Amino acid sequence: MLAQRMSNLHPYVPGEQPKDRVYIKLNANENPYPPSPKVIKAVRAAVKAHPEKLGLYPDPDSNQLKAAIADMLNKCGGVLCRANLKGGKKNGSGAEVSPSEADKIPFTVTPDMIYAGNGSDEVLSFVFYAFFDSDRDLVLPEHTYSFYPVYGGFYSIPLKKVPLNSDWTIDKEKMLEEANAQNSSIIFANPNAPTSLGLTRNEVREMIKKAPADRIFVVDEAYVDFGGESCIPLLAEFKNLVIVRTTSKSLCGAGQRLGFLVANPELVNAVTTVKNSLNHFPIDFMAQTCGTAACEDVGYYVKCAQNVAFERDEFVDFLRNKGWYVLDSQTNFIFCRKDGVPGEETYRKIKEAGILVRHFATPGIEEYLRITVGTHEQMQALRKVMENI
Ligand SMILES: *Cc1c(COP(=O)(O)O)cnc(C)c1O
Repeated sequence: MLAQRMSNLHPYVPGEQPKDRVYIKLNANENPYPPSPKVIKAVRAAVKAHPEKLGLYPDPDSNQLKAAIADMLNKCGGVLCRANLKGGKKNGSGAEVSPSEADKIPFTVTPDMIYAGNGSDEVLSFVFYAFFDSDRDLVLPEHTYSFYPVYGGFYSIPLKKVPLNSDWTIDKEKMLEEANAQNSSIIFANPNAPTSLGLTRNEVREMIKKAPADRIFVVDEAYVDFGGESCIPLLAEFKNLVIVRTTSKSLCGAGQRLGFLVANPELVNAVTTVKNSLNHFPIDFMAQTCGTAACEDVGYYVKCAQNVAFERDEFVDFLRNKGWYVLDSQTNFIFCRKDGVPGEETYRKIKEAGILVRHFATPGIEEYLRITVGTHEQMQALRKVMENI
């Protein structure tokens, strides 16, 4: 009874969203802080002043939101928290919105360089549709965001998975070799998931220079705001670069489902054509209101990112002192393991104590845990549990 194409589907399995018990949730890389009070105020005001808008179709192209996103990127240089390691701040003031010299974008990001969609998952799905062909392999790291292979199946795009180096970094040379062999596109997350490691902007620049120039090169910057280097400045150099971003992590907005991409306007138009062929109104009125207000209060989110980076670095120190092997995280999560402590069993012990973290049964990473960085109180609770493991 089902269409043949259904056999290509291998749906994504998200971190658990249990209803049986209240857990401390450190398994989906959500931000532990609420959105800015200005977001809440904007939603209240919008519904109060214009209740009729809930009965009308929203702006199909989210023009106000795209303008706000462009403004935010220009203001902060494309990243909220130039943290790297040890760059966090307890109770950061959020005053340091201006980019460091190194992060300044050498042009003005304009709204026609932005495409906004219903979560970056949807944006990514349209990117796959618009830019990746079925007649050659899409090149990606073996361990990266696990939704990419799901879309590969959905759109019948064959994949070439390149193993990571032994230190968990992306094997740039091998990725390029594979891409050039078939004149293929490349996609990866930077910083990468679940490893938490990032490439510098310069490393990505060198990669794009050597990659096929007539194929799209996608960098998913879902975690960049917690200490990575954004590749937005590289848009001045490369017409084939697409940068995907989300409000789910650093903009405390996973519930509103809002993601976007930054690219040259011709590529934005291509993705808009996909959108208009499938779902004309992907972002509802409430989400557009939330996203716009969030972008207008960038200082608040700088502060949140600094706090997350601070808690992360403290927690990494704690785990290392307890004999855990922990990768140097540039994200809002930690990837770690301990000799003689099986990942699955540890995950279960932590869950029994009321805290959810993420364990992947995927071969190669099954010894590891991926732990989202929460508030100070949440991390204290986790310390108490992991102390004895
Ligand atoms: C969380 C995440 C996404 C999805 O973000 P949404 O906007 O919530 O759909 C995309 N890419 C990576 C690497 C992520 O970690």
